[in-house]
Amino acid sequence: MTRSANMIIKNGYVFDPLNDLDGEVMDLFIRDGRVVGDLRAGERRDAKVIDASGKTVMPGGVDSHAHVAGAKVNAGRLMRPEDHYRSVREKTRLTHSGSGYTIPSVYKQGYDYAAMGYTTVFEAAMPPLEARHTHEEMRATPILDMGAYLVLGNNWFIMRYLKEGEIEKAAAYAAWMLRTHKGYGIKCVNPAGVENWGWAKNVAGLDEPNIHFEVTPREVIRGLAEVNEMLGLPMSLHLHANNLGHPGNWETARDSLMIPSGLAPANRSEVDEPETKLDCRRRQTVYLAHAQFNAYGGTSWRDFCSGAPELARYLNQTEDVVIDSGSVPFGPATTMTGDGPAQHDLYVITGQKWSNTDVEMECGSGVLPFLYLKTSPVHSVQWAIGLEVLLLIDDPWKTIMTTDHPNGGVFTRYPDLIAWLMSKRARDETARECHKWAYDRSSLGGVDREISLYEVAVITRANPARTIGIAHRKGHLGPGADGDVTIYDLDPAGLDSNDPSSIRSAFGRPEYTVKDGRIVARRGEIVAVPEGRRFYTTPYVDEDQELEMMADVKEWFKYYTVGFANYPVPERYLKNPTPIAVNRPLEAVVRR
Ligand SMILES: [Zn+2]
Repeated sequence: MTRSANMIIKNGYVFDPLNDLDGEVMDLFIRDGRVVGDLRAGERRDAKVIDASGKTVMPGGVDSHAHVAGAKVNAGRLMRPEDHYRSVREKTRLTHSGSGYTIPSVYKQGYDYAAMGYTTVFEAAMPPLEARHTHEEMRATPILDMGAYLVLGNNWFIMRYLKEGEIEKAAAYAAWMLRTHKGYGIKCVNPAGVENWGWAKNVAGLDEPNIHFEVTPREVIRGLAEVNEMLGLPMSLHLHANNLGHPGNWETARDSLMIPSGLAPANRSEVDEPETKLDCRRRQTVYLAHAQFNAYGGTSWRDFCSGAPELARYLNQTEDVVIDSGSVPFGPATTMTGDGPAQHDLYVITGQKWSNTDVEMECGSGVLPFLYLKTSPVHSVQWAIGLEVLLLIDDPWKTIMTTDHPNGGVFTRYPDLIAWLMSKRARDETARECHKWAYDRSSLGGVDREISLYEVAVITRANPARTIGIAHRKGHLGPGADGDVTIYDLDPAGLDSNDPSSIRSAFGRPEYTVKDGRIVARRGEIVAVPEGRRFYTTPYVDEDQELEMMADVKEWFKYYTVGFANYPVPERYLKNPTPIAVNRPLEAVVRR
């Protein structure tokens, strides 16, 4: 890691929700890349000083759900040359060249995130067999700290163990898989349904058993949520619900989120606890991905409408769930997901070029270009739903702002989302430009809520960090936190929600992005290119359980096309590997 100097950020309005700071004017101190309470006189003398007077200061942005590395992302790059023509980044003395708008090359992606004030990004879906490819792309991504969620919802071993009621073996397998592939947490995509896609089918409801394994979506969701808490992972189960993208699916989403209720969140990761005012450990047992795509009402595309008010009503009653929004800012997108059948449905509707992959014994995937148009009635409602899920859920600690990049839109459109959330006027202006279904078929037109800068900090930093269990060092600015800070040229005292363009431009081009106490971007320009960390978890389980499980795995491994020795991802594939030990028996911790 590059050595960082000391830094003082003076006089900024600090928004740090995990420490209950709502725009307080204060100084921040960073020593050797980490936030500290103060610097000694000698350190102060040669510290880099940034004058943040009249500016908004937040922890570095944290994206807890984006598709930024791996086989499906690269498939998208390859099948979309048209995506590259008009979005080019020139080489500079410091930076590589790059291209791609919705699916940028890895270099451009790292620079674009950093230039927008984000320092931490998690890849939302890593198929185990594609883990090497995913890590190779993350390795090449500059600046950002990263990690990846392992896709397990249609894995043959998991489905077999859950069907046989072997929950401990399922847990031992998940633990081994996370260690083997340097995965961070458990992702579950269209449970039981993607396996059926191998026979050109899907599952219709939560209680429909799939082919051969005879396991239902409900059993997979419950089983993996239990496995997650047995292992004590930093993040809860991350769920991409069944029936995604279909009218009327809000009920499936709500019923799916009810399945893990009653489980207690048990994050047993071994990390240095920070001194945050609020508890920095998650309280949810299920984290729903891209709620917008699962909050549809109606029964067909003809009577399509928003189901967000109904879904939000459930979220407002429960403490078990966090959602990310998967909002739609209009414009070009590339849809890519492990939900193979959902992508086929989209292909049937659009006739777009479409690629599909079956990842043997593990999962599936599909990729398809998409253009969200203001003139389209359905897209206009999707835009509204993507904002409703953030505005109708009262407690911002239950929500995270994303575009499910690049599914709902590209991450560089986050400033537009912030402007719509902070300004009713911005929403009304856009609603006037798009199809009238936007307000007619949703509740958005009647929503007066305009979120504050504090709430922006919750849904773009503090809560994504806490939800995925990384808030011991990300998403806040208390002592011990990583020195990741974003300074926006936005004076909270003069903030005017009737002037959305100033909000948009401030969030699009921060004055400074600081990573580990070092300025990496200045007004959109990359000025330093340090290497980020790669987080993954190493969960411990009972040795005997692990041995029994390994016997099953070795027996079945003959069906894989790769040899067992080639399956694991070696640590040298990772830049600055940063493992987080989980569930370690107490004796082992003491002996360390
Ligand atoms: Zn996603």
